[in-house]
Amino acid sequence: MCGIFGVYSLSRENVAKKIYYGLFSLQHRGQEGAGIATSDSYNIYSYKNIGLVTEVFNDEILQNLIGYIGIGHVRYSTTGGKCLENCQPFVVKSSFGNIAIAHNGDLLNSEELRLELEKKGHIFTSSTDSEVIAQLLVRELLKTKDRVEAIQNTLKKLVGAYSLLIMFNDKIFAIRDPWGFKPLCLGRDEDNIYVSSEDCAINTLDAKFVRDLEPGEIVEIGEDINIYKIENEDIYNVELEGERVYKKAATCMFEYVYFARPDSTIDGISVYKVRKNIGRELAKEHPTDADIVSPIPDSGNTFALGYAEESKIPYYEGLMKNKYVGRTFILPSQNERELAVRLKLSPIRAVLENKRVVLVDDSIVRGTTSRRIVELVRKAGAKEVHLRIGCPKIISPCYYGIDMPTKKELIASNKDLESIRKEIGADSLGYVSLEGLIKAIGRKDLCLACLTGRYPTPIKFKKVKDY
Ligand code: AMP
Repeated sequence: MCGIFGVYSLSRENVAKKIYYGLFSLQHRGQEGAGIATSDSYNIYSYKNIGLVTEVFNDEILQNLIGYIGIGHVRYSTTGGKCLENCQPFVVKSSFGNIAIAHNGDLLNSEELRLELEKKGHIFTSSTDSEVIAQLLVRELLKTKDRVEAIQNTLKKLVGAYSLLIMFNDKIFAIRDPWGFKPLCLGRDEDNIYVSSEDCAINTLDAKFVRDLEPGEIVEIGEDINIYKIENEDIYNVELEGERVYKKAATCMFEYVYFARPDSTIDGISVYKVRKNIGRELAKEHPTDADIVSPIPDSGNTFALGYAEESKIPYYEGLMKNKYVGRTFILPSQNERELAVRLKLSPIRAVLENKRVVLVDDSIVRGTTSRRIVELVRKAGAKEVHLRIGCPKIISPCYYGIDMPTKKELIASNKDLESIRKEIGADSLGYVSLEGLIKAIGRKDLCLACLTGRYPTPIKFKKVKDY
């Protein structure tokens, strides 16, 4: 996943502080590392480290990040390990001066591209896709001597998900891949132009949301704004299973279901409304006799509200969340993840005792979280536990940047509903249907690969074999 944020100050004020606030508002998109790179048109200054935004930066560091142009990144690792070298923005030297790159998404063909570059003598310092993009761009800049052409040539080679910010000394290029996998939008106030993974960060800075970038769009942000297109029709219009499958965009459905903040709007659709709609769909598709509806906080909150409204079963908070624990997936090993569930959530006996409970959450990936929580709720005295899930069964890995690694680890990949229910220990289990999900989101140009196994890009790459 990851979050990216950029600012161009028309009044030439330093932007580091604004980027810091922007990244703070995008913290939900990645908690492993954070970084900012700024430019005063002569030099690029950068700082990045492992940790949360508030842990990585302090006043002194921000003051040293001079410049009226800047980009920032919060990292959630899928490609590359958890280490400083893999934090972003990634800064490289080029024939056009230094360049900083911040990337959200995963490329499928980065291994092939990396090997090709290594054969040509490039030496890599990190294991990220972002460095591959940077090195490709450096070569193209030498060849073409034109920034837009070099960027277009670089992007033509990339297969996969990339919302990108590329900063030169004097401008930022904001790019959304032709499939529109990840969100990216523009904002503005009197003195600044903003670009952000989600509009929640633009709203926090009291700026105005302008619009989402279109899939395949390159927006040059400088003294002037220019718009270009990515021209890689051959990759975009691929033949899959004998048919041309996706001609349109394929925006990640999981942004709406889990990743984005509920106060964000992606491609004109409110994330909050989607979650509420899904909750309503769930109540229609999987009604049950129960005394209370309770969310698994925070990811299940809005879904549960929708379920309660539609079913007319009262909404109660049956679980308390410890606000100081981050998202469970931050912890790498299975053991630690299980401990994290207990650290994060505790049941409220006064609410749950002797009740038939509908527990609502956004998704089941490995099943560990749900199993633990059902157990917690039962121990707190619930008579029955009916689990309702706002995302259809996740059966296939994501190659585009969401941590749903191997098929083996996905509980729904080789089990039927009844076996999953048993393993999780619920009295009943209901997932929203694929049709219900699409209806609730209200758009069809979605990437549903983790739910259907049908991928919107070719997947015959080395990286996929490693999954
Ligand atoms: P589990 O089924 O134990 O793998 O955990 C699923 C829970 O983790 C879901 O209810 C989500 O709230 C959260 N979750 C799902 N997918 C992800 C992801 N890719 N990264 C971080 N958290 C996730």
